[in-house]
Amino acid sequence: MFKDRFDSIVKGINEAKARAGITHEVTLVAVSKRFPLDDIKNAYATTGHTVYGENRIQEALDKAAELKSQPDIDIHFIGHIQTNKVKYLKDNFSLIHSVDSVRLAELMQVQFEKIDRVQDVLVQVNIADDENKSGVGAEGIFEICDYLMQAKNLNLRGLMMMPPLVDDVEDNRVYFAGMKKLFDKCNDIKGYNMDTLSMGMSGDHLIAVEEGSTMVRVGTALFGQRDY
Ligand SMILES: *Cc1c(COP(=O)(O)O)cnc(C)c1O
Repeated sequence: MFKDRFDSIVKGINEAKARAGITHEVTLVAVSKRFPLDDIKNAYATTGHTVYGENRIQEALDKAAELKSQPDIDIHFIGHIQTNKVKYLKDNFSLIHSVDSVRLAELMQVQFEKIDRVQDVLVQVNIADDENKSGVGAEGIFEICDYLMQAKNLNLRGLMMMPPLVDDVEDNRVYFAGMKKLFDKCNDIKGYNMDTLSMGMSGDHLIAVEEGSTMVRVGTALFGQRDY
């Protein structure tokens, strides 16, 4: 049952916050990728949860269109965006987590200016320089953030990170802590005024919360195993 899993994830997050003495809010993005629309509708009906995450553009657009009749529901786009897909971005997503190059940001600025929308975005950071992951390396972060700060139709809200695949998730604690340091630097030194640090998935979201995440993206632990 979604509701039981949901209640247990929320409880775990609250306990992790208490352990670490954290008082800021942590938003749960229920990652519904590869699960049918009815699972989102059921999740919303049984828990009232409103934030869902998708990572493939076509699937995300289809679901967003179907969910237009439920204006409470927000879809976040969390997957890689190929530059030839930017033209499909409209008012589909309340937050895009995956801006990972200046080139992509420039194309998004043109697209959102064309449709007269200001889009909330995060910069995806590849803090571990993991060659299997997209995201901007530590050295490129300020360039892309500086671009976004002056882009009129893009609103920089924060940073997103996916850690490397490891056997023991504790090995990635150092990357979550590193992201929190970087996030604080973005605000305290660069003055970006960010409010969102998106990190933590099914296997490691409690560690991420302890290290300062403000937004976790949990799929499997809520919806079950994906078939593909
Ligand atoms: C699939 C996905 C998640 C959720 O992963 P789970 O391990 O199923 O919780 C989180 N973030 C991104 C970017 C994803 O693509």
